[in-house]
Amino acid sequence: MTPAGGPGPLVETRTIGRLTVHAIQAGGQKLDGGAMFGVVPRPLWERRIAPDERHRIQLGMRCLLIEHDSGLILIDTGAGNKENAKFHEIYGVENAGAEGRTRLEDGLAQLGVRPEDVALVIGTHLHFDHGGGSTTRLPDGSVAPTFPKARYVLQAGEYEYATHTNERTAASYFPHNFVPLMERGRFDFVTGERQIVKGITVMPTPGHVPHHQGVRIESEGETAFYLADLVPTTAHLPLPWIMGYDVEPLVTLETKRRILTRAAEESWLLVFEHDATTAWTRIAHDGKSFVPTR
Ligand SMILES: [Zn+2]
Repeated sequence: MTPAGGPGPLVETRTIGRLTVHAIQAGGQKLDGGAMFGVVPRPLWERRIAPDERHRIQLGMRCLLIEHDSGLILIDTGAGNKENAKFHEIYGVENAGAEGRTRLEDGLAQLGVRPEDVALVIGTHLHFDHGGGSTTRLPDGSVAPTFPKARYVLQAGEYEYATHTNERTAASYFPHNFVPLMERGRFDFVTGERQIVKGITVMPTPGHVPHHQGVRIESEGETAFYLADLVPTTAHLPLPWIMGYDVEPLVTLETKRRILTRAAEESWLLVFEHDATTAWTRIAHDGKSFVPTR
C-alpha cells in the first residue's frame, strides 16, 4: 500500500543507454479516489492507495528532464504558479518551491539548470497538472513562457481540443497555460508518431483525451516510456483500472493493451507521472495482469 503522505524525493536520476534522465517531482496533488479508478470498486482500490478523510488519494506530478546531445528536453511541466489558493486547496496541489519558485524550478535548480537552458518541452497533453508550468505569472501579473528559449512540442489535435472545450472537458483546460505560447509562436505541432530528435519519439496514446501522447526514449538498446495519463500510477497497471476522467475509456483500454504488451515484451522502463512514490519500473505479465518487476 502506498501511504497517503507527501511526495518522495525531489529529483531521481538514472541512465537510459547513454542518456542521463532526471525524474523531477513537481509537486503533490490529491484527487478523488473514485474518479481516479473509474469503475473499480473502492474496496479494491483503497487497498492500493489509501484515501484521506475527503476521499482523495495522494498523487505526484512527475516531470522528466533528458540530457540530450541536442539540448535539454523536459517532458511535461506540472501545475505552474498561476492558480489561486482555493484551487490549490480543492485539488490538494502542493507545488510551491523556495523563494517564489515552483517545485519544478527547484528541481531544475538542484540540477544546475536554469529555465533558459531548456531547449525543448514535450507536452503529453494540456491539462492543468501537465502543462500549467509551461507558462509563468510574473510579478506584474502578466503571463510569459516559463522556458524563454524552448520550443514546445504537442499533438496538433490536442491544441484544437483544448481550445474547443465543452461542459465536461473545460474544467481541465485553462487558456493561460497555452494561449501565451501560441501567441508567441512557440509550438511545434506534430501529428501522429514522430521522432523529435535522435532517440526521442512521441507516440499517440489516445483515450484519456483523444490526442494524448507518450514519449519513447531510446539509447543503445535501452528503452524508457513516459506514460503520462495513460497509466498515471503503478496501481493503474491492470487493464481495466482506468480513470473516470478519461473521455474515451474503451480507447484507453486498447491503448494500454498495446503499449503495456510491448513494454513487457521489450523490457521498457515505464515512467509514472502521477505516482506519489514510484518514478519508474519495468513490468511483466503474471498470467493475470501486468505487474511491476523492478
Ligand atoms: Zn490529464
